[in-house]
Amino acid sequence: MFSLNDTTIRDSFVNASRKELSDLTLPAGFAEIDWAKLDYLGWNDPKRPRRAYVVVPVGDVAVGVLLRRADTKPASRAQCSWCQDVQLPNDVVFFSARRAGAAGRNGDTVGTLVCSEFECSRNVRKPPAMAYIGFDVEAARLDRIASLQTRAATFVDDIRATA
Ligand SMILES: [Zn+2]
Repeated sequence: MFSLNDTTIRDSFVNASRKELSDLTLPAGFAEIDWAKLDYLGWNDPKRPRRAYVVVPVGDVAVGVLLRRADTKPASRAQCSWCQDVQLPNDVVFFSARRAGAAGRNGDTVGTLVCSEFECSRNVRKPPAMAYIGFDVEAARLDRIASLQTRAATFVDDIRATA
């Protein structure tokens, strides 16, 4: 699909200040991403535990959003809003994102519940349970992948909408 480098990652952010971008810690291995296996790039900042980032392909552009980990702990059975995996093998976390532009500067944020280490792409690629006889497992799997891509793109589109 497209390749990312230090510059394209930093340039992709729609809701981060210059200061935030300058002290952003890049994720490992971002140059060798196989976009057939990854629907979005998400990582926690190892130097700033409250900060995380997602870079989502929207059409042929990468849209980056800076996230803040909320203090609130979600309910133990909470589901990730992005992959909606019903047998979630990992924790989910409340993240909030400042909207782009003036809205964000005025404190307007959007919240979302996402897998704590951004495991969504792995979760949706597991073959789903056979729901009934004749159930098309592969079609269901592809459907989940497409839905994850749509949800991630919708979220970042919403953040940048006011830019
Ligand atoms: Zn998820």
